[in-house]
Amino acid sequence: MPFDVQHYINGKFVDGGERFSVYYPATGEVIGKAPDGGQDEVNAAVEAAKQAFEKWSRTKPSERRRILNRFADAIRQHADELSRIETLDVGRPISENRHHYIERVAANISFFADFATMVGSECYPMENGYVNYVLRQPVGVAALITPWNVPLMLETWKIGPALAFGNTVVLKPAEWTPLGAWKLAQLAQEADLPPGVLNVVHGHGPNSAGEFLTTHPDVALISFTGETITGQTIMRNGAATLKRYSFELGGKGANIIFEDADLDRAVQIAKRAAFFNQGEFCLAGSRIFVHESIYDRFVADFVEVAKGIRVGDPMDPETEMGALISPEHLDRVLGFVRGSRDDGNEILTGGERLRLSGALSGGNFMAPTVIAAKPQDRICQDEVFGPVVTVTPFRTEEEVIAWANGTRYGLSAVVQTRDVSRAHRVAAAMKAGTVWVNDFFVRDLRVPFGGMKHSGIGREGGHYSMEFYTEAMNICVAV
Ligand code: NAD
Repeated sequence: MPFDVQHYINGKFVDGGERFSVYYPATGEVIGKAPDGGQDEVNAAVEAAKQAFEKWSRTKPSERRRILNRFADAIRQHADELSRIETLDVGRPISENRHHYIERVAANISFFADFATMVGSECYPMENGYVNYVLRQPVGVAALITPWNVPLMLETWKIGPALAFGNTVVLKPAEWTPLGAWKLAQLAQEADLPPGVLNVVHGHGPNSAGEFLTTHPDVALISFTGETITGQTIMRNGAATLKRYSFELGGKGANIIFEDADLDRAVQIAKRAAFFNQGEFCLAGSRIFVHESIYDRFVADFVEVAKGIRVGDPMDPETEMGALISPEHLDRVLGFVRGSRDDGNEILTGGERLRLSGALSGGNFMAPTVIAAKPQDRICQDEVFGPVVTVTPFRTEEEVIAWANGTRYGLSAVVQTRDVSRAHRVAAAMKAGTVWVNDFFVRDLRVPFGGMKHSGIGREGGHYSMEFYTEAMNICVAV
């Protein structure tokens, strides 16, 4: 059934702007239409959010918690439908959604709804008869701008804390994946979120809804996840109206495997880190560094595992890897592989488009790809954002630390070793916002999440989200 996506403004579903097609990545078919919001829709949504802020910001946190938990429950009750919608949007295997993904989407709302009622505040008594304390106040209208790779996860990761701490929201989901945000808006309506508290405007970035939000004088905060270059543009565009930013940008994660690592486990972790979500993942472990003494063995096993990945129909529960988001993106990823081959690197497996049969013949499928490369090669420096991973042997700890840190990104890293001292030492030496030791993509909503260098500005999660989504006030009382 074709999806007829609309904006959600002030509690109502409305049209506005030309309609663009929504494609299912696994078949290339048009599965719906969505509206390309412009200045009028952004103005209406921001105005609705501004009006709603008056009341929502003064609503008791316990009442906000009750309402937001109703929203989270609605998400849980629609887990199967959301799971299917996310697969239609992204092309990711449905098996990945059913396990933990949708629960995490709901938890993004319920965790922050609860958290906001529990946090305390600092107090600084002075020795000359004064007491200072800190009050946290909601900031205002938050513009949340999200990418297409894990849309429901990232949309709720921002909506949850923004609303829990008393702000109101205009969400601009990625143009490639409007379905999930549209469904979230329906669930928000069903859960009786007051009109204007959560608005969703669909559309594109430059000269469209995205840009108009970032230049709107009544938008106080921007939480953006997407490409580094887009973050730079958003910062420039928002400068005139001095916005508060949280940026989660690109990544080029290192996965370091020492000679004492559990090899079978290391292969499985490397598989997941490289190919989860077709490798279209900011946290992807897209550069594997393996100690030279186990390099040949690791590479033989890993290539075998990569060759065995079941690529196919994302709706089939047995499928391990689905389709890339668009034909253009697939071409871009294949271009990186061609460039790497031209640089003299050896493609150990994959490297080509996969043509599946029947309805899937129009899908953007690609073979899991492993390339032997050197750390300075372009394929090891640029974010490919596809099922492409490099392998490189290393000799010393010092050398591999320098290589792991030797990109402009600093989002995440994986360190695999059984030596406890080395695990802590190397983890601390990483220039990355998150380091996993002997695992990958384990998330706790209380911890800081974000990137160093060109991977972002600021942190979200737990009280880090509170800091971003609230104004800290100092009240100084003469006792
Ligand atoms: P993108 O930057 O192209 O788009 C992201 C969002 O920004 C979209 O909604 C888009 O419409 C909007 N946008 C584009 N130009 C804009 C402008 N000038 N003004 C306002 N909005 C604008 O990114 P993408 O291709 O959708 O996503 C892939 C990127 O996201 C990768 O670089 C990936 O690493 C990054 N990402 C980072 C994280 C993280 O947590 N660090 C998580 C997921 C994805």
